[in-house]
Amino acid sequence: MNAAALLALQEIDSALTVIDNKRPRLPEVAAHRAAAEALAAHRARMADAQRRIDEAVAAIEATEHASADIVTKRTRLEGQLKTIIAPREAEALMHQIDTLNTQRGALDDQELASLDLQAEAESEMSAFDADLPALEATAAQARAELQVATAALDAEAADLHARRPAAAAALTEEELASYERARKHFDGVAITHLEGTHCHGCHLDLSPAELDEVKATPAGQLPECPQCGRYLVR
Ligand SMILES: [Zn+2]
Repeated sequence: MNAAALLALQEIDSALTVIDNKRPRLPEVAAHRAAAEALAAHRARMADAQRRIDEAVAAIEATEHASADIVTKRTRLEGQLKTIIAPREAEALMHQIDTLNTQRGALDDQELASLDLQAEAESEMSAFDADLPALEATAAQARAELQVATAALDAEAADLHARRPAAAAALTEEELASYERARKHFDGVAITHLEGTHCHGCHLDLSPAELDEVKATPAGQLPECPQCGRYLVR
């Protein structure tokens, strides 16, 4: 077993795992998500205000149309009134005109209420408009910072990937296959350091007898940690 070459390959693979674990935990990821959510919520409030403006404008137009129809009817009735002599018919027409006037008054009230709603939504909208650029800038900056942080990890990973083939080439096919098997089995870390009595794979200490056994391993072979079974390099 080429212990040094195995350890070199393990270090590259472990560094790649560390990078993969770092990606979702980057503070820039959380900051970007928060900024994007704040911007989306703001835009939703703006869309709601715009919807209320549109509804108020449509309601105002509708009351104005209805009001104009009433004026047309009333003008016609007033014309008829001038030509009528019979008091009972005149009374009936005047009653119809009164009814139209009442309807028009109600429409005027509705229009005023809609104008109030429009003004309220427009004032909210102008406040939202004023806040929008800052929120957009924060989101854009967070996105740029995330890109920079991601690019730094990409560069680190690219460097490791570039070094990996040479490190793997220093091992025989058999050693490489054994390494890949052990890596799968040990959740990515097949080879680890023994520092004094301490195994860096399982973080347990070896007893003096176990340590003697490790030391007795013939040259060219890799001892295994008696606790976790990982290959040990001293
Ligand atoms: Zn161990």
